Amino acid sequence: MSNRPETNKHSCPVYKKCGGCQLQNLSYPEQLEFKQKKVEKLLKRFCPVEKIIGMKTPYHYRNKVQAAFYTDKKGKIISGVYQSGSHHVVGIDSCQTEDVIADKIIVAVRKLLPSFRMTTYNEDTGKGFLRHILVKRGFATNQIMLVLVTGTPVFPSKNNFVKAILKQFPEITTIVQNINPYRTNLVLGDNQKVLYGKGYIEDILCGCKFRISPKSFYQINPVQTEVLYGKAIEFADLKGNETVLDTYCGIGTIGIIAAKNGAGNVIGAELNGDAVRDAIVNARANNLKNIRFYKADAGEFMREVADEDEKPDVVFMDPPRAGSDQKFLDSLIKMSPKTVVYVSCNPETLARDLAYLTQNSPYKVHKIQPVDMFPHTAHIECVCEIFK
Ligand code: SAH
Repeated sequence: MSNRPETNKHSCPVYKKCGGCQLQNLSYPEQLEFKQKKVEKLLKRFCPVEKIIGMKTPYHYRNKVQAAFYTDKKGKIISGVYQSGSHHVVGIDSCQTEDVIADKIIVAVRKLLPSFRMTTYNEDTGKGFLRHILVKRGFATNQIMLVLVTGTPVFPSKNNFVKAILKQFPEITTIVQNINPYRTNLVLGDNQKVLYGKGYIEDILCGCKFRISPKSFYQINPVQTEVLYGKAIEFADLKGNETVLDTYCGIGTIGIIAAKNGAGNVIGAELNGDAVRDAIVNARANNLKNIRFYKADAGEFMREVADEDEKPDVVFMDPPRAGSDQKFLDSLIKMSPKTVVYVSCNPETLARDLAYLTQNSPYKVHKIQPVDMFPHTAHIECVCEIFK
């Protein structure tokens, strides 16, 4: 293909070792074609698939960057990503999918570690201090959060460390220490201390302001998120005053944008308590009174709403990769909203859920819109418009 040179120019030196960008051997137009075909293969039995919306500049799109740490036998500290499917750290200083400033902050922290006698956590022995770093940046606000994930709570040099990193990056707006003493694959632990700033950042999406805490889910590609949410709102076809459910709502983004776009009454449900707290604050920050959020399993929440004979007009659903479940879908059918908008980050579980829904109810899928949220990786996001 004609765009081969582009591929070579951007190909990454740790492409094979890292494994994060599974499609890097393809040019960007070829990647989009690959994803389009995959979605069609899985979903065209429900309805024709719209053309995937790609990014104009598909680089450095990630607003959240995570790094793992490791000290080699010679005592050299390495930071980077886990080799896919393993716990071996591949050293990287920059990545073409990650935010440039976030990558620079991670390298700077790594270089500061020895002078503060900060050790790195060893997964085999469970000993050592620094496990991970997480950087989140609001692309619209330029607020930056640095999270230091440590294996133990005692951080003797914390004040001087904070001063030293802020001297290099005065644009960092908050620094948080998250303590994760567990032998676990999860990056973040339960306890955290704010070392500097407010403990959260804010960002703006589709004209609405959002607060993001260290542990809350927030879409990692804000440019494409606006495209995705724009489609979700278009599919909801709000005329004004509808009752809308935002399920698997995270920090309330879709529901809040729906409320700003005419929904009369919005009810959100989300399992993660930190995200629900953010969602409640976000509703207030956007001057919305007609919106409530509940900390609940989405399936349980749907069952309760259906049992109460509530009749929402529109249901947004945006489950994690595992997709939704039968409890949720049965309640959805019982509730019988006019429109269902399904946002999915996994076309396989989407296909399973759409099959269940269409086989067990008169609902039909009318539009399937893939949006490329994760260039160079094999991940695919879709939004579907469903009604009877
Ligand atoms: N709609 C949001 C979040 C989507 S990610 C956005 O666009 O930002 C999926 C969300 O589902 C995450 O916030 C996750 O915490 C939540 N979640 C996972 N399992 C859940 C369940 N069983 N019930 C409710 N929420 C769940």
